[in-house]
Amino acid sequence: MDNLLDNAPCGFISLTNEGVIVAVNATLLELLGYQLDELSGQRLETILPLPSRLLFQSFFLPLLSAHGRAEELFFSLVSKNGREEPMLVNAIRRERQGLIVDDCILMPMRRRSLYEDEILRARKDAENAARLKIQAVISLEETQASLMARQAELLEANARLEALSTLDHLTGLKNRRAFQDYLVFQMAFTNRVPSQLSMLMIDVDYFKNINDTYGHPMGDKYLQMLSEFLRENLREFDMAARYGGEEFAVVLPNTDKATAMLIAERLRLSIASAAWPELGITVSLGVATLEPAINSETAFIFLADQALYASKEQGRNRVTHAADLRASSAVRRTLFI
Ligand code: GH3
Ligand code: MG
Ligand code: MG
Repeated sequence: MDNLLDNAPCGFISLTNEGVIVAVNATLLELLGYQLDELSGQRLETILPLPSRLLFQSFFLPLLSAHGRAEELFFSLVSKNGREEPMLVNAIRRERQGLIVDDCILMPMRRRSLYEDEILRARKDAENAARLKIQAVISLEETQASLMARQAELLEANARLEALSTLDHLTGLKNRRAFQDYLVFQMAFTNRVPSQLSMLMIDVDYFKNINDTYGHPMGDKYLQMLSEFLRENLREFDMAARYGGEEFAVVLPNTDKATAMLIAERLRLSIASAAWPELGITVSLGVATLEPAINSETAFIFLADQALYASKEQGRNRVTHAADLRASSAVRRTLFI
């Protein structure tokens, strides 16, 4: 073998057409760690791992037989210390000195397969990172969705709580606080837009008798029926509330004294003539209509209360308007002086 080929920067090996090694250059011997006499006369298969051996027999040799050359085949050769050295092999079959030989050039591929491994690893890392990113985005979206759902639940719960906090448990009417809030709102509105505002205070006459005679649960039932009655007999924008005990209050927006008196009288009459489970009941009513001198809701309520008190005083089952009490200077003084 000439010196140039012996020391070429690639491996060279020459085989008989049956795969017996007849020549190996120094470069390949050095790479594999063998002496020439350890390989010379051996079959190439002895230094091929199994997959390469299969490739050699079923592809390499038939290719050379059929076409006289084989190119860019990928083999591994086992070095003396047992390490597999990946190689890219080009081979050509030719006749030399009366013998058919297969001359093979072998390019070590270890670096390249390391690079390929690295590229593969980098690609896997990139794929993993992309998958993690997608998972993070999905979980972020899920978190956002559940946050929004929680927020909606919270708003709903707040709305329910708000509604509950304005309602009276027994009757389902608005409670005293809600009544006062609404009255304040209507008073402010009435002052801005020239209109009239009236209110009623209603108290059941001798209600204690119902409780004492038929028991407290029956008393409750009366209160519930009376509440239902108020709901059905008032206008849509009127607000009926349970002011406390067996006392009710009604806000009558956009209602002057005469109309408020009509409404109160109509309520009184229909309650007195309604069908009740046991004894019939009557109510006493106090009516007040907003005037410029009334500057707080407590003063307004106080007026209606005074009128209610007068109805009780005068025998119950009747309606009194606060303005008709003007003769009573005591009331006026308590209120405005
Ligand atoms: P008047 O004509 O002077 O208003 O007489 P009255 O008996 O209605 O007045 P009083 O204030 O003496 O009694 C009111 C009664 O209302 C006493 C109380 O036990 C009853 N009461 C208050 N709240 C409730 C309730 O939630 N359920 C029931 N069953 N009774 C109630
Ligand atoms: Mg009463
Ligand atoms: Mg009472």
